[in-house]
Amino acid sequence: MTSTSVQEYLQAIYRLQTGHESVSTTSLSAYLEVKPASVTGMIRKLQRQGLVEHVPYQGVTLTLEGGKEALRLLRIHRLWELFLTKVLNMSWDEVHAEAHLLEHATSDRLADRLAEFLDHPEIDPHGQPIPSREGALPTRDSFPLSQADEGQTVTLVEVPDVDPDLLRYLGDLALYPGAEIQVLAVAPFDGPLTIRLGEGKEVLGRRVADKLLVTYTVNKENPEEAAKDQ
Ligand SMILES: [Zn+2]
Repeated sequence: MTSTSVQEYLQAIYRLQTGHESVSTTSLSAYLEVKPASVTGMIRKLQRQGLVEHVPYQGVTLTLEGGKEALRLLRIHRLWELFLTKVLNMSWDEVHAEAHLLEHATSDRLADRLAEFLDHPEIDPHGQPIPSREGALPTRDSFPLSQADEGQTVTLVEVPDVDPDLLRYLGDLALYPGAEIQVLAVAPFDGPLTIRLGEGKEVLGRRVADKLLVTYTVNKENPEEAAKDQ
């Protein structure tokens, strides 16, 4: 097993920190699937580098420097993922591992050339936003598919990039960003969701539905909504 890198920690803290004051080492250990002892060691290292602050019994936060570095790496990572799918025709379940290897060898100058070549993209193949050169990350009002109510139609905007098995499964269902999903039924007690996807009906486990981010679909038949779009 390869060791979990600085970059993965920074990105994990960045993601877990959203909406919270700090991130517990327990939740980091669960998120990264590494032993608590390894987390403690890495946090100490990151703290020495000035990238995180760790208050015992409270948790970890990124310093300003750590936050900048997380966004810089996220930008490089996502630019490579897009390059590998778009230019080298790799499939979306293969590119995370490759981008992970490439990002460590990528200078800011190379990242700028990549962005230019790709025409300054804002979204990677998994629908994840690409931070700008200045470290700005576009926000959207997305929420997990599992929180959609029965009868709602939503648009898939973002899927997680880290699990190749999940990405292949989603690909088999044609659940790519942009897909329109109608929630037909939500089973109680954390049961599965029944969804309409194109012509077909699918049953999606709650664990999968938790990981898919969606937005409300603009109702094309509603003239008022349509007018707002123009
Ligand atoms: Zn990735």
